[in-house]
Amino acid sequence: MERINVAVRARPLSQEDAKTSPWRISGNSISTTNNSSKFDFDRIFGEDCTTFQVYEARTQEIVSAAVRGFNGTVFAYGQTNSGKTYTMRGSEAEPGVIPLSVRDLFRTIQQDVDREFLLRMSYMEIYNEEINDLLAPEHRKLQIHESIERGIYVAGLREEIVASPEQVLHFMEFGESHRHIGETNMNLYSSRSHTIFRMIIESRDKNEDEDINNSCDAVRVSVLNLVDLAGSERAAKTGAEGVRLREGSHINKSLMTLGTVIKKLSEGVESQGGHVPYRDSKLTRILQPALGGNSNTAIICNITLAQIHADETKSTLQFASRAL
Ligand code: ADP
Ligand code: MG
Repeated sequence: MERINVAVRARPLSQEDAKTSPWRISGNSISTTNNSSKFDFDRIFGEDCTTFQVYEARTQEIVSAAVRGFNGTVFAYGQTNSGKTYTMRGSEAEPGVIPLSVRDLFRTIQQDVDREFLLRMSYMEIYNEEINDLLAPEHRKLQIHESIERGIYVAGLREEIVASPEQVLHFMEFGESHRHIGETNMNLYSSRSHTIFRMIIESRDKNEDEDINNSCDAVRVSVLNLVDLAGSERAAKTGAEGVRLREGSHINKSLMTLGTVIKKLSEGVESQGGHVPYRDSKLTRILQPALGGNSNTAIICNITLAQIHADETKSTLQFASRAL
């Protein structure tokens, strides 16, 4: 499979908005009805598509590759209210990409008779370029370190050993209650932070003698990151001032860096020994081990086709096209 996949998902519109929408979707292209812009993607999911279809298209493969030892990262990108959290966490009626991935992860490892697995999870947010541990709310402003044994890691981040999907979802709910939520003029609540849900998958070949681990494949560790990004809307548009403006500029900087990193990766810059600016934001630095190299990445760009959001939707589609 190709390493970076970009999909677009349009959330359902009200009947009123549907009548005046300036967008037209045809196959995997989306264009304005006056033909002033046109974009093509790996996949476009229209408003009738389910989260399961979005999951099945790409994330499912990334989850099974993660069990086989390949790191993976899936992002939800888009303006506030475009459906990022709906896509990642889901609702009571429709489970999101995170619960679907967790369910498949447990199912897959149970079917593997040759290996024994240990699963851990962590859950963090990046708010104003500060890393907070959602599983241990007293752990704030955590630092990123790098060592030979551990590679790049967030020092002090709690990792919980998990034995069932229910346990994972229980920890997530605990973590959710500590997220930062701020009020803006644009929406009652809009999310101003990035959240990184991470599963760490460790496995050992049962047939290998524990003392003679001469097979390099005897122990494998891989990570799966499922990321709900902060709203991509420009700070100026939300009527932001002071604290809100500062949050906005941090968010824009990390999303811009993410865009640049993904673009460089898709151009093959890293494999040619070129520079990829992972260090320019906490988000990309934390995710570095699961973005480059043999990792698999998917970006689900959430949009709304309503007339009033045409500018934001266009900027999301431009972000998404840069990543291709
Ligand atoms: P974001 O996280 O991007 O700010 P949300 O996921 O919170 O946006 O979505 C905003 C609202 O739209 C929520 O009430 C959510 O339930 C609804 N919504 C988003 N996408 C869909 C969808 N595909 N189907 C049904 N409802 C959706
Ligand atoms: Mg959200």
